[in-house]
Amino acid sequence: MAVPFRKTSKTRKRLRRTHYKLQVPGMVECPNCGEMKKAHHVCPKCGTYKGKEVIDV
Ligand SMILES: [Zn+2]
Repeated sequence: MAVPFRKTSKTRKRLRRTHYKLQVPGMVECPNCGEMKKAHHVCPKCGTYKGKEVIDV
């Protein structure tokens, strides 16, 4: 089986992984308060969904 000719350096490895972000997918910015919230869910920070206040915070 083929084996890499050279060892991948720490720099190369880290550069490759700069795109790996520790973030939960499906998170969007709340249009009302700018806080990160789950997409298609009521914002837990300001309690709004689609521009209307739904729950009391
Ligand atoms: Zn909000």
